[in-house]
Amino acid sequence: MDDDLTDLNAKASLEPEDWTAFRRRAHETLDRALDKLEQAGTGRVWTPVPESVDAQIEKALSASPLGADAVNDVLRSILPYGVGNTHPRFLGWVHGSGTPFGLLPAMIEAAINANCGGRDHVGLRVERALSDWVAQQFGFPKTASGLVVTGTSMATVVAMKVARDAALGFASREAGVDGSKLVAYSSAEAHACNARALDILGLGTSALRKVPVNDAFQMDLSALKAAIAEDRAAGLVPFAIIGTAGTVNTGAIDELSGIADIAEAEGLWFHIDGAFAASGILSEDVAPKLRGIERADSIAFDFHKWLHVNYDAGFVLVRNEALHRQAFSTRPDYLKATERGLAAGNPWPVEYGPELSRGFRALKIWAHIAEFGPERLGAAISDNCQLVRTLADLVDATASFERLATVETSICCFRYVADGLSAGDLDALNEEIVIRLQETGVAAPSTTRVNGKLAIRVNITNHRTRESDLHLLLDAIKALAPEALEKLGKA
Ligand SMILES: *Cc1c(COP(=O)(O)O)cnc(C)c1O
Repeated sequence: MDDDLTDLNAKASLEPEDWTAFRRRAHETLDRALDKLEQAGTGRVWTPVPESVDAQIEKALSASPLGADAVNDVLRSILPYGVGNTHPRFLGWVHGSGTPFGLLPAMIEAAINANCGGRDHVGLRVERALSDWVAQQFGFPKTASGLVVTGTSMATVVAMKVARDAALGFASREAGVDGSKLVAYSSAEAHACNARALDILGLGTSALRKVPVNDAFQMDLSALKAAIAEDRAAGLVPFAIIGTAGTVNTGAIDELSGIADIAEAEGLWFHIDGAFAASGILSEDVAPKLRGIERADSIAFDFHKWLHVNYDAGFVLVRNEALHRQAFSTRPDYLKATERGLAAGNPWPVEYGPELSRGFRALKIWAHIAEFGPERLGAAISDNCQLVRTLADLVDATASFERLATVETSICCFRYVADGLSAGDLDALNEEIVIRLQETGVAAPSTTRVNGKLAIRVNITNHRTRESDLHLLLDAIKALAPEALEKLGKA
């Protein structure tokens, strides 16, 4: 180091003072992370954050730095208090479980610290290769464009903005959407992020028409056609249909080919919310149910759910690259594209979405696919489908359980039943059982309502879950039911 700068750097530099000591510390931290993942199958699923840890979290942000040992201690102390989705009996909502391999690209990502909004560097090459791979998996043309985003919520905003602007001839980019009368359609079972996207895009949640579903929780296609005709007759402007591949309540997949036919006949954008089940394109079990996905105009899905890339990792794929770019591209002087130098490598990701500065999320996804390959990732999905069917069989074979929905992909909805309870009591009982399962740390399913009934909702997008975990879950439900009844004063 230049002697003149030594004093200055001692105060202002954010580099380690002693690289040997820092190396040791980094290796120790890696070991603690590995310990956690090696023991992922043991212990409690979820543990509420204790007050002592809360206090440490607050104290860490005082004016003077904590120092190396204390920072290491704090980092270590938070490890047990995540959502619990690294545990084999995390069975709630739709979470992926991650893999130990995710630690490796996380380190490289931190080391390279790339800003992937644009410019000519390896980050964009990896993201482009990934986008081509995604397009190929879904049977999209090579010319399709894609963008890594935080998750399906953001992917939906991006896709629906392209759909909205394309419908308005891109005048909306400058003039806004006041008085556009645009309306879109999804099933009543669609995820809330779809209506929220229309809210964010200035169309309002009421612009999303919720089409009723059939007995298999799929969009009723004659009701869809009727709704489009009715809206047109009323002077509204239908612009998009959102099909769901894997509904969040029951895991149902809409009839995508049927929706594609209607979208084509009506001249509407066909978007698919495939947050978790679009990944099923890699699985022999799910892929046949996704027929028609290759006809979509855009797909929003997550790598962090059924593909187990560490959070967060979503993706939006758009068939027509030109429309995608036209909806987002803005290149002021300071972001001008060049043929050579660091400002080459066009088009840039900033032309495909709302974010300029963005991290190198593509790296962990690309490394994950490189590590496992599509076949093994698909097999893990098929295994989960088999486990869910096994759970449904176990539920059906037990008198004190009642199944509430068909099993399509990763989700089984059922409830505990006992004689002499009102509908309200049954709801309260099952809610209490699920909370107790979570609080005891035994398992973590979640709840939802199916046809008005409160359901214990088990979702298995978890490569660590085994059949023995399902027996443990069902036994725990039976064991907790009497306490739960007592709590409700119904014992
Ligand atoms: C999880 C989910 C979403 C939202 O995705 P995020 O990645 O959490 O933003 C949307 N739709 C469905 C069907 C989902 O399961």
